[in-house]
Amino acid sequence: MSPSGCVIRSMLFMSGVAMLALPVDAAEPFGLPDPSRMVQDIQVLSHLDFAGRQTGTEGGRRSAEYVADRFDRLGLTPAGPQRMGTERKAWEQTGPVTVTQIEAPATLVFSFPEAHPPGTIVSQLGSQFLPVLDSPSINLTAPLVFVGYGIADPARGWDEYEGVAVRDRVVMFLRGKPPHYPLHVQHAEKEQIARAKGAVGFVTFTGPVLSRYAARRGMGHQPLAFYTNAEDDRPLPGVWISGEIGAAIFHAQALSVTDVQISLNNDRVVHSKALNGLVHMQWTSQRQARSLVNVLGSIPGRDPVLKDDVVILGAHRDHFGNQAGLLFAGADDNASGTAVLLELARMLKNRPASKRTILFASFSGEEQNLLGSTWYVQHPTHPLAHTVAMINVDHVGLGNGELTVGVANMSKDVAVRAAKQAGLSEVVKLYGFFPGGDHVPFTKAGVPTVAVVTAGTHPHFHQASDTPDTIQLDRLDTAARFVLALTQRLANAP
Ligand SMILES: [Zn+2]
Repeated sequence: MSPSGCVIRSMLFMSGVAMLALPVDAAEPFGLPDPSRMVQDIQVLSHLDFAGRQTGTEGGRRSAEYVADRFDRLGLTPAGPQRMGTERKAWEQTGPVTVTQIEAPATLVFSFPEAHPPGTIVSQLGSQFLPVLDSPSINLTAPLVFVGYGIADPARGWDEYEGVAVRDRVVMFLRGKPPHYPLHVQHAEKEQIARAKGAVGFVTFTGPVLSRYAARRGMGHQPLAFYTNAEDDRPLPGVWISGEIGAAIFHAQALSVTDVQISLNNDRVVHSKALNGLVHMQWTSQRQARSLVNVLGSIPGRDPVLKDDVVILGAHRDHFGNQAGLLFAGADDNASGTAVLLELARMLKNRPASKRTILFASFSGEEQNLLGSTWYVQHPTHPLAHTVAMINVDHVGLGNGELTVGVANMSKDVAVRAAKQAGLSEVVKLYGFFPGGDHVPFTKAGVPTVAVVTAGTHPHFHQASDTPDTIQLDRLDTAARFVLALTQRLANAP
């Protein structure tokens, strides 16, 4: 797509060789972003060499070195907090993280000895279940108790634990909340309630009736990788099952999960009950205190005064790693944003410097409750008071061709003008604050933020199927062109 002289060199995916084989040619100072180069970066970052880039693991560390190496060869300035340290440290900001990894194999079996006829469901890892990633080890067989959406809030008249015994049992609850319940409910709160009530594990799934939000995002009924992120550092072991398995468990009770969910939602009737069935959950999980690594590089501003101001261009690099033997490559999430970051670093470095400093931030720990970006906001390498904007690029490799852009703590004018400059006025759809992503800690700290994601569905979201072959070049290209124009405007505004 680009006329650039970029030679797509053959990728040598031998361990350690991949990063040396990547082209970083400095041609085309005023050219367009090069989608083929971005796709190459996505392929490399999604490769087994990086083992899914889980924060705090060896693969995560290697991905940090890959990005730091690129920053170095592009001629960026190291911008880690220890700029005087050893060469590698100069690019890095490190912070604490607890790494949990589920080892293979993981087993989940439901049995219904009293059903007619008696039955067993052996669930398939990945497509039918995923252990929640910060689950402790478990080897347990226990009765199942359905607790609706898993909410216990008697003060608001909705207590799905009332009158059901869950001690030493495994609770099963739907994702989300009934539409009539007024508060937002975090998964961690459901886990906390289940633990406080004496449950020994949980099973969760997306009910057949999707919330409006889930339907709009194109979310389905597959199990997704995620963390409980409980306050307690030893959460209950838990598993996310597919909607299909959830329905089968109800079917074994001669019940329809659809009818039950409609009644929960519309009739406001609690349907909690002990199920005729047992669940067997078995896996081993490892847990270690390690370091997260944010990689920081800058292009110093040229204006003698405004160079103290900084525009942060951020993209998280981490993903879920290797869990229970499944590789979560994270091509769209967020090798795509990382590739845009690297491509814009190359382009901006080859142009005359902007008035303000541009800080390129490759964050880690995003999938684990935004740990890396939160750490940066708590330990900024440039004062937040001088941070004129933080642009976050996440999930930009798929979609319907439009860009969804969330603007907070600033006027939308600059984004409108950037879209126009990039020839993307028809494509850029502007909204207010988005609640998820690495911009959130910045927004909360009062920094102006712009979150950029490709619009439409991301069907492989948080699944092992998020692989490079699904990436669409023109989506990447659109995101890179808009973010380039936006970064330059913010970095040069009077
Ligand atoms: Zn993610």
